Amino acid sequence: MSEDGDRRQYRITVIPERCKGCGFCVEFCRRNVLRYSVELNSKGYRPIYADNNDECNGCDICAMICPDFAISVVSESDSRAEVESPENG
Ligand code: SF4
Ligand code: SF4
Repeated sequence: MSEDGDRRQYRITVIPERCKGCGFCVEFCRRNVLRYSVELNSKGYRPIYADNNDECNGCDICAMICPDFAISVVSESDSRAEVESPENG
């Protein structure tokens, strides 16, 4: 039995219009989280998306290696704080 109380959840956010589909992030992700979209962005590239968020360990390598600042990693606790802000009215 393993203790997984310390395991956090992370969310990958990609800005599709910034992504040029170079694949650096896919190559360097050891958790096999990232995939190419089938749809093209307006520049004709296949942007990346996170297909396997649960496997992400938050190492942030994808974000650090992206030359176009197209991808970012946030912990779920951080993103919940943003989502719960009352700006819907
Ligand atoms: S943070 Fe790490 S594990 Fe998560 S998608 Fe990026 S490279 Fe993969
Ligand atoms: S490294 Fe950046 S630009 Fe290259 S495929 Fe990944 S998200 Fe897109």
